[in-house]
Amino acid sequence: MAGLAAARELEDGGMRVHLFDKGSRPGGRMSTKTTDHGAFDLGAQYFSVRDDDFATLIDAAQRDGAVTAWPQCMARLDDSGWQQRKPHHPRYCGAPSMDALPRYLAQGLAISSGQQIESLVRDDECWTLLSRQGERYQGFDQLVLAVPGPQAQALVAAHLPAAALPARCTAMTPCWSTWLHLEAPLDDRFWQGLTLDASPVLRWVARNQGRNGAAPDHDSGERLSLLARADWSAINLERERDDIATAMTAALADGLAGTLPNVKACGAHRWRYAQPYCAHQSEAGYHHFAEQQLTFCGDWCLDGRVEAAWLSGRRAARHLLEHIADRSH
Ligand SMILES: Cc1cc2nc3c(=O)[nH]c(=O)nc-3n(C[C@H](O)[C@H](O)[C@H](O)COP(=O)(O)OP(=O)(O)OC[C@H]3O[C@@H](n4cnc5c(N)ncnc54)[C@H](O)[C@@H]3O)c2cc1C
Repeated sequence: MAGLAAARELEDGGMRVHLFDKGSRPGGRMSTKTTDHGAFDLGAQYFSVRDDDFATLIDAAQRDGAVTAWPQCMARLDDSGWQQRKPHHPRYCGAPSMDALPRYLAQGLAISSGQQIESLVRDDECWTLLSRQGERYQGFDQLVLAVPGPQAQALVAAHLPAAALPARCTAMTPCWSTWLHLEAPLDDRFWQGLTLDASPVLRWVARNQGRNGAAPDHDSGERLSLLARADWSAINLERERDDIATAMTAALADGLAGTLPNVKACGAHRWRYAQPYCAHQSEAGYHHFAEQQLTFCGDWCLDGRVEAAWLSGRRAARHLLEHIADRSH
């Protein structure tokens, strides 16, 4: 999201931009896993909209069918039982799945997908990027890193002192996600997202059916995304995926007091860097190092939300455009 926002703003400002992404499709933590059992959002589940410019963009995406209002039916399960929740802000998601929004924003941008940048070389005031896949890309006079803080820090270790990016900014929490296809729908159909306060393992469960105004197809069972708590994810970070999927499914069965239908299939995805430990709302929302021709953006520079990632990318690009304009005067 941050990379796409920055690229769009830079292109609008007259720059020529090329994006590199290790993923096979744009999306990052807004990506959707496609399986033989349907599509599952394993990262961001929905997003809120507070900023006016972001609202304008989301309105346009909604009109073009890439975004839809997230069903506002939320519930909480705690020691005293089921509670219905009313979210304060309207929430949205990609349509038909979360990755539709990054795909929409990526239209018209030059992107090399499936290229994991492994090292960076800077000479003659130009950056060269070397990918794990063996490609070499050269001749970039500015480099914008829109990857999670710890990964950004590792990539620039040879070019920037470690303390240049403060540790409080780059620290991020992990999260295990599990996708679950059940043979039959759950009994409680009133919620789309469920917070599990009493579970030591799970923090959130979302239904993947029934968005986009479509009636859920109950004949195809139930497709759920489960998100684990950050502390549980950290302790279990190196465990096998199958073990994790089993443990998270068992935790859901516990939480629902034995009403979980049989499982058809499940799998787990590890987000090593899921969300920043803390928000930095009062800060600029990016880091720019003029001498090194380097800029960093992403949710970790502002707040662990989709909207914050977009704002960070855009602010970084605006700053860079001003810097380039100042230099050429
Ligand atoms: C489980 C989970 C649940 C979440 N829930 C919500 C939610 O409900 N609401 C909300 O608003 N936000 C939520 N978030 C946070 C939200 O997803 C992020 O804030 C946002 O997507 C971050 O966008 P970004 O552009 O900063 O980073 P990313 O999405 O991480 O993008 C970084 C990109 O860089 C690429 N990349 C990384 N390293 C390299 C490399 N070496 N070479 C090439 N490419 C590379 C990646 O493939 C990726 O495309 C959630 C996140 C997770 C993980």
